[in-house]
Amino acid sequence: MNETSQTPVEFNQCQQAVQRLNEYLSRELNSDETELVQEHLQQCKGCFDKFHFEETLLKTIRAKISSVTAPSGLRDSVLRLLGRDASIL
Ligand SMILES: [Zn+2]
Repeated sequence: MNETSQTPVEFNQCQQAVQRLNEYLSRELNSDETELVQEHLQQCKGCFDKFHFEETLLKTIRAKISSVTAPSGLRDSVLRLLGRDASIL
C-alpha cells in the first residue's frame, strides 16, 4: 500500500491562513475565524512572518491615512519614517 495520496495538511492550512490574512487584518472575520488564523500563526513560522509583515504594513498605512488629519509636522514625521514623500497621499 502506498501513500501517494497523502494530503499536504500543513500546506492547505497555510493556504487558508493566507487567504484569511487580509480579512483578518481588516477585521472582517468573525471571532471563530480569527481564532483559527491566530492558532495557525502560533504554529506556523512562515505564516507568522508573513502576517507580521502585513500587519506592520497595514498599521503603517493606517497611521498614514489617519495622519492626513493630523498636524502636518506629525504627518511629515510619519512619512519620513516610511521613507515616502507626501505625494502618495
Ligand atoms: Zn502556515
